[in-house]
Amino acid sequence: MKIGLIDVDGHNFPNLALMKLSAWHKDRGDVVEWWDGFGQYDRVYMSKVFDETYSPDMPEPLNAAEVVKGGTGYGLDNKLPDEIEHVCPDYSLYPELTKDTAYGFLTRGCPRGCHFCIVAEKEGRRSCRVAELSEWWSGQKNIVLLDPNLLACSEHMRLLQQLIDSGAYVDFTQGLDCRLLTPENIAAINRVKLKQIHFAWDYMKESAAVLRGLNLYRELATRKINAMYATVYTLVNYDTTMDENLYRIYTLRDLGYDPYVMIYDKPHAPQEIRDLQRWCNNRLIFKAEPDFSKYSPKKWAAKEEVSEQIGLFGGTE
Ligand code: SF4
Repeated sequence: MKIGLIDVDGHNFPNLALMKLSAWHKDRGDVVEWWDGFGQYDRVYMSKVFDETYSPDMPEPLNAAEVVKGGTGYGLDNKLPDEIEHVCPDYSLYPELTKDTAYGFLTRGCPRGCHFCIVAEKEGRRSCRVAELSEWWSGQKNIVLLDPNLLACSEHMRLLQQLIDSGAYVDFTQGLDCRLLTPENIAAINRVKLKQIHFAWDYMKESAAVLRGLNLYRELATRKINAMYATVYTLVNYDTTMDENLYRIYTLRDLGYDPYVMIYDKPHAPQEIRDLQRWCNNRLIFKAEPDFSKYSPKKWAAKEEVSEQIGLFGGTE
């Protein structure tokens, strides 16, 4: 068969499903390539992770006998069959992005069921092991872990040990659930090679549990907590007031963490929320003007323009 692949979201982040489909088809002797308008295909896979707001759909190709669409951007009920889900991804599809880097899940699902998040509906309201590390890692220097809530899995200590034993740099891209931190799992996390660590503080009603975990980590982490190392995603524009947003941001800063504002439904967010994100997520502004009430977006706009050109400002999301 001749297989065409379309990454509808673009090529900025490797599409795991397409990499697995590619590996599975190549294993069967099929020809696999990125879809080309001038070719003719037996089957074309279109994969889309993000919704229409962030990733507009594209027309189905006409030069294919069959078109298969998948990914959360097309709905929550499409999953790869087990025999494809468990193959080692074909990293050659994204040579730049996967250079010495392996991507994958050790667990899927999350017991939390946060209302703004699709994980529980898509993957189930339990965190379960779905793979051993060796299934998709074969000695690469970096591991990008996509698990939504590794610490909620009953096997997480064993899985953390696999990450420790790999000796690779591990990026927990979805963050770790700080409410589930214990002295035991912090001791294991201390032995994982980490460039950075991420947590989240989304709901005010979870404040006590979040702060317990963040304080425990601060006490037991072998690496000093500072803005270069430990980031806490802070959800705004969902169900918190501006006072509650600022309370979380200032508290995190006082603890030594790096608050990072994430805007729910950004296209419809009020200007004040966008300003809050601009202020907090730009390290230079956040340091230079520690009080949001004194932050003047106009005053900073000109400086940002110049500084962005010379790469001094970080992104805002
Ligand atoms: S804890 Fe994280 S992964 Fe789990 S439901 Fe909430 S936002 Fe989603």
